[in-house]
Amino acid sequence: MRVWAMGAAVLLGIAPAAASAQATKPLSPEARTAAYLDRIAASPPRLRIFLQAMPKGGDLHNHGGGSIYAEDFLRWAGEAGLCIATDTDRIVDPPCDAPNRIPAAGLERNYPRYSRMIDAISTRGFESGVGDPRMSGYDRFFATFDAFGPASRGNAGRTFALTREQAAADHVGYVELSTGARAAMALVSQVGEGDADDFAGMLAKLEPLLPQAVAATRADYDAFERDAAMIDGCSGASPAPACGVEMRYLYTAIRTLAPRQVFAELALGFALAQADPRFVGVNIAAPEHDPIAVRDYALHMRMLAFLKARYPAVRLSLHAGELTLGLVPPRDLAFHIHDAVAVAGARRIGHGVDISYETDAPALLHRMAREKVAVEINLTSNAVILGVKGTAHPLSLYREAGVPVVLSTDDEGVSRSDMTNEYLRAVTEQGLRYRDLKQIVRNGIEYSFLPGASLWRDRVGGARVAACQVIAAPACTAFLAGSVRATQQLRLERELTAFEAIPR
Ligand SMILES: [Zn+2]
Repeated sequence: MRVWAMGAAVLLGIAPAAASAQATKPLSPEARTAAYLDRIAASPPRLRIFLQAMPKGGDLHNHGGGSIYAEDFLRWAGEAGLCIATDTDRIVDPPCDAPNRIPAAGLERNYPRYSRMIDAISTRGFESGVGDPRMSGYDRFFATFDAFGPASRGNAGRTFALTREQAAADHVGYVELSTGARAAMALVSQVGEGDADDFAGMLAKLEPLLPQAVAATRADYDAFERDAAMIDGCSGASPAPACGVEMRYLYTAIRTLAPRQVFAELALGFALAQADPRFVGVNIAAPEHDPIAVRDYALHMRMLAFLKARYPAVRLSLHAGELTLGLVPPRDLAFHIHDAVAVAGARRIGHGVDISYETDAPALLHRMAREKVAVEINLTSNAVILGVKGTAHPLSLYREAGVPVVLSTDDEGVSRSDMTNEYLRAVTEQGLRYRDLKQIVRNGIEYSFLPGASLWRDRVGGARVAACQVIAAPACTAFLAGSVRATQQLRLERELTAFEAIPR
């Protein structure tokens, strides 16, 4: 149709519109790409194609385990000889011939039961209103971890591989995966009873045990990474695209354990991050509205502050403010993000959804902007767990305040989303446009905990550091050799250039 019209215009001697456009300054590739997104912004299918191909920098909030889809857990459960508990809809250990137990193997031939298990270990249907009416989104979401738990056991390598494969499919170049360690269990059992405020005493008790726990965890991760590399053929002739995804770990303590156990987990996290560059920081997770988590929140922040003073180089990204009005009393909405930043010294906040309920939220936003404390925004997760989406979501508040934000997946398997969908929501529900997304993509490496100096002199996406004014210069080569972060940033810039060069 368009070709015919153009041809007719030429035949009739009418100058086509393109000719007059050429007389004016041609659009930059970025402006052309931005204009294209503006044209398709109301069309989710067109957005999906565009955003899938768009380079997305880093996924800084992604939980190993929660990243896996139910279908994979059920397959792994079948292969491992695990069972399905038909009364509780959980994957459980053998024997499978006990009452209310059936083998997980072959479950796909029993579609009603299979479908029911997919629902039990995910939040499928919750957003579209067809989820289990007997259960809230937040209870279903957090219950999934117990329901699939046994199937994740011994599958860390497969989890790493699948997570990187999904990242590659979404054109995510870097994943900062939240993970734990088997060695934590021994520490937790040996920290003993006593005063949970005696941080120095607890650390003195744990310190002789930490080197062994760190060594065991490093050996475990060596094996997990070997398994993942094997699955994706990373040292073979045709490595999978997943092999090109850089992955590091945030050691994540569980905030619903007994206080001294939380301290033991955190102590291991700090020791690991100090000892092994693959562990780039420490996190704390699990439902923030759990009564134990609510009771101990301030205590945990003081624990983190104590350990941070002992290990000042270790960086913190903390789940804080994954709450909303009605989930907890208002008093518990008033200080979590503040204390994560001001007491514990977090450099990034996971979620931060309840920011507007904080005491003196404007001052806190101002501080986060000034100190460049980034917020990891998880749109699908927040919609499913908290019911917070659209204009109720504080993303625009953070952006307007100048707080750096990134988009991340949280638990893409459980919430049955992916990174492309998070970007799609940012357009359709939050009104973001191409330059906004590009800034967020760049933030995903800038605010990562990858070691090394930034490629950017003073503003993300602005001028490059002096050494890299000329990328091919020896000074820049030397600079990049000393900075994994800048190397990833340059890789991202090249990907963005290629993406913007696609004819549209
Ligand atoms: Zn999370």
